[in-house]
Amino acid sequence: MTPILPGATIGVLGSGQLGRMFALTARRMGYRVHTLSPDTDTPTGQISDVEINAEYDDLDAVRNFARNVAAVTFEFENVPAATAAAAAEQALVRPAGDILHITQHRLREKTYLARHGFPVTRFATVSTREELIHAIANVGLPAILKTAGFGYDGKGQFRIATLDAADAAWQALGTQEAVLEAMVEFECEMSVVAVRNESGDFEHYGAILNHHVNGILDVSIAPAPIEPGITREAVDIARRVMEQLQVVGVLCTEFFVTRDGHLLINELAPRPHNSGHLTIDACVTSQFEQQLRAVCGLPLGSTFQARPAAMANLLGDLWTPREPDWTSALAIPDARLHLYGKAQPRPGRKMGHITACAATPEEAEGIVRQARERLH
Ligand code: AMP
Repeated sequence: MTPILPGATIGVLGSGQLGRMFALTARRMGYRVHTLSPDTDTPTGQISDVEINAEYDDLDAVRNFARNVAAVTFEFENVPAATAAAAAEQALVRPAGDILHITQHRLREKTYLARHGFPVTRFATVSTREELIHAIANVGLPAILKTAGFGYDGKGQFRIATLDAADAAWQALGTQEAVLEAMVEFECEMSVVAVRNESGDFEHYGAILNHHVNGILDVSIAPAPIEPGITREAVDIARRVMEQLQVVGVLCTEFFVTRDGHLLINELAPRPHNSGHLTIDACVTSQFEQQLRAVCGLPLGSTFQARPAAMANLLGDLWTPREPDWTSALAIPDARLHLYGKAQPRPGRKMGHITACAATPEEAEGIVRQARERLH
């Protein structure tokens, strides 16, 4: 394709922090940005040239939005398939809608990965209470029951430790379609954020170690202090997944590393990922710039990271009982603050993050944890 060059307009479907950081990069590089979502004064909208307020299923609004941009990308992968198709009538859409269709649904994603020989957690499909009992017999306990579609950050998940708990989990889920997954006793969780362009060029940021709290990412550390062989294998899996899906854009592959050193894919996100936020401050080219380059058909940038880095998420809980103490955290000179411009600091809501680079991963982790601690 002919590259889409600076000066052109890129459309972002979705308007959260991922779109905001993408828009900040795109504007730095001389592009214009339009965003469409059902909200106003959004994290992405605050940075964009144009913020369109429409529902994702308002296909006329989506077509109109796409008509005014050179390419459409996503920051929110739960955009309905019909929305991606409507956008594709008017503009280049990257990554392609069928990739979103697979990855926005746990069951489709796991089935796809298993069918193509990728390692996933043992799972079974559940759409009735009877199937749940049958699935428990196949998958074993403890297990996790998850909604098949539209789940993220541990939402729509119920742990089942004993057969007696199955009914309560089924009631709590309150849905027709679900996945029962074996509970993995993992050594650690990690992710590979990578980018692929139309020519099939591939770049990655190695393995990033992720600590979750209550199902939400809490701290990421790069490079992950794990065996180089495991990192190599994870990167190889991520590369093969992206080739199989023919991704043009950024994709994050999240893994469990089992106690015996095996890798299992937990999930895919066909976009920049929370664990890759540290690439903004730590790498020559951030995950957001790679997304822009891939979408625009430009050469990919270097992922070189001069020093180890860590990132700590700032959730809305930090705003209770009072506004965080920014001055005290910023008194740590190596702490870099990113806030997403969200007006309502609800508990569990991602409001921002802090990144630091240091001589070792442990030191970087210590800095971001200390800076976040000081916000209290
Ligand atoms: P998810 O939204 O599926 O990525 O789940 C959020 C978090 O819950 C994961 O990052 C893990 O910490 C935990 N989790 C999810 N599925 C499993 C599993 N099958 N075994 C163990 N922990 C899990």
